[in-house]
Parts: sequence; structure tokens; C-alpha cells
Amino acid sequence: MIKDEVKQDWLLSPLDRCDRCNAEALVKITGITGDLLFCGHHYNKIMAIPDGYNSMMSFMISIIDERDKLKQDRLKD
Ligand SMILES: [Zn+2]
Repeated sequence: MIKDEVKQDWLLSPLDRCDRCNAEALVKITGITGDLLFCGHHYNKIMAIPDGYNSMMSFMISIIDERDKLKQDRLKD
């Protein structure tokens, strides 16, 4: 069986690091005063807290959410 390789262009690179823990960032939030980068763990953590969610929503202008990366096999590195 041939595995189709779906090439997806990610906007975030491994050089983008989480502001909190320095892991690879999977979510980039562009807000009114600048950009925030989060790994999947820290993004989930903030959005799970009502205060965090609310302040994020009032700050956010746009979001790049590439947490799907986690679901993919990572063959290169
Ligand atoms: Zn993190």
C-alpha cells in the first residue's frame, strides 16, 4: 500500500518557540500589542482557564493553529 504524502505548508517552523517553555510553538497568536507563541500544551492550558480564554479573545486579532502537526508522523528531524 502506497502512503500518500500530503504536503502541507506550515507557517510555523521549529525555530518558533513557545514563550512559556521554549518547546516548538504550534500556535501563533497575533494580537493588538504583538505576537504570542505557544506550544500545544500551553495553548490548551491557557484556553482552559476562563480568565486566560477571555484575555486571549480580547487580545487576539488572528491565530495560526498548527496543532495538527502533533497528529502527523514526524519522520524528519
Ligand atoms: Zn509551552
